[in-house]
Parts: sequence; C-alpha cells; structure tokens
Amino acid sequence: MAEVRDTLRVTAGDRKALGRHSPSSTPGCSEKRDAIEAAIPALDEELSELQTRLWAEGRRSLLVVLQALDAGGKDGTIRHAFQGLNPQGTRVTAFKAPTPEELAHDFLWRVHQATPAAGEVGIFNRSHYEDVLVVRVHQLVPTKVWRARYGLIKGFEEALHEGGTTIVKLFLHISKEEQRRRFEERLTRPDKRWKFNRGDLEERAHWDDYQEAYAEALARTSTEAAAWYVVPADHKWYRNWAVTSILVETLRELDPRYPEVEGIDAIEIP
Ligand code: AMP
Ligand code: MG
Repeated sequence: MAEVRDTLRVTAGDRKALGRHSPSSTPGCSEKRDAIEAAIPALDEELSELQTRLWAEGRRSLLVVLQALDAGGKDGTIRHAFQGLNPQGTRVTAFKAPTPEELAHDFLWRVHQATPAAGEVGIFNRSHYEDVLVVRVHQLVPTKVWRARYGLIKGFEEALHEGGTTIVKLFLHISKEEQRRRFEERLTRPDKRWKFNRGDLEERAHWDDYQEAYAEALARTSTEAAAWYVVPADHKWYRNWAVTSILVETLRELDPRYPEVEGIDAIEIP
C-alpha cells in the first residue's frame, strides 16, 4: 500500500501544495470513518513500540513540527495522535510571541534549545516557522529580514538532520468555513470558551495573507532532510489517522534497535 507520507508530502518548490488536496478530503484513506477509527489503536501501539526502541537505542531523535492557523487542531492532534507516545522521552514545546529576552537573540536561539536530545521525540506546537508567517503577515521585521530566513531555516534543519534528528513537518490544513465552525463552537460551548481569543478574529481577517505565507514557506523549505506534509484537517478523525500514520511510517523507516549489551549472557544474579 502506498504510504500516507507519499500522498501528503510537499515537493520542493511546489507553490501549489495547499491546493493539491481540499481540507475536507481524506486522501490515501480507502476506508470509512468507522473502520479508520477502529484501526487507530493498533497504530498507536506500533508508535509506542517504535518510540520505546528509539529511546532504548538512545542515538537518534525525532522532531515533529506542528503548524496550523488558529483552531487548526494543533492541540487536539497532540492529545489524540500522539497518545501512543510515552511522556518519558517526549518533549512538547509551545512557541508563543517571543519574550524580550528571546527577541534580543537571533530567531533560532529559543528553538535550538528545545530540540530533542538523542532518544527523544520533540514536538513543536508552532515553531521557527512563525518567523516567516505571523512575522511576515504583520511585517514585524523588514521584508529583507524574513526573506533571508528561508535559507537560515534550511541550514538549521540540515544541521539537526546531520546530528541524527529526523524532522517531520506537518501543516494541518483547514478551510475558512471549518475555522468559522470551530470559532463558533468556542463561543457557544462552555468547555471550549477558554480557547476563544479575540485576537484570533483579527488573524482570520488576514486569511489570504496567511495562505500565501504558508504556500511560500512550504515550497521553500520542504527538503529531503526535512519534508513538509499538508494534512487535510477539517475531519479530525482523518487528521489523527494521517498524522499517526506519518509518524509510524517515519519511525519504521528509521528502524531503531534495542542496543546489544556486551557480556550479558555471562552475568549471574547473586
Ligand atoms: P497560541 O498557539 O494560540 O497559544 O498562540 C500563540 C501566539 O504566539 C500566536 O498568535 C502566534 O502567532 C504567536 N507567535 C508565536 N511565535 C511567534 C513569533 N516568532 N513572533 C510573533 N508571534 C509569535
Ligand atoms: Mg490560539
């Protein structure tokens, strides 16, 4: 069967990657919702086993970069798609608007500190990509400055890759209509109101600018060492299945091994 990775991967230089699959589509998925949801526990279990091996091996690491527009489902993805991961060995980092101290450094300073150590899975809830997205849309720095960042990001990710980190970058792609539905839910459901943020409505007004910023960022930074995947994310069940599948496929390919322990056969417990 073709891998979900191959279906959703962004080809380097492809400026039309966001238009390839509609946010409400379910590419690479031959089954109906019920069958997919039934298949998820086995995937979670495999993810868990692979992560344990990565941790035991202790030599390589996995970095998952999650990007989306507001209400795009980053939090839900971390809750559901990563439930197979052992909290020991997993580090989630959320990137907010930079603090004065962070702003006093180069934009990768805070990011580098959060990258996963050998054996770990690191998850970025937002990332260094905000520095070519929100920063671009709101012109927080001159054009010349954010433009130079595509190359700087590629170099940075290349360095991580050379150091043994596999990088998987996921853009959760929702439609403008779906964002409206989710915002409305945040207004009407008491258990969701805490997520409502007036600033999100202002960002929604820049919808087209964000689509353009994402299109360019994905095209320019999807590389062999660090590919982008566009995950249609209007349907949460599909999103969770696709994300878990991508992680499992990536770790299967890495094929981490339990380390050999020298002389273990000769050891006797007194
Ligand atoms: P949330 O993920 O909903 O908690 O929101 C975090 C906010 O921080 C979002 O509005 C991001 O756009 C913003 N943010 C994250 N990184 C940066 C950055 N490098 N520069 C400016 N704003 C950022
Ligand atoms: Mg938010």
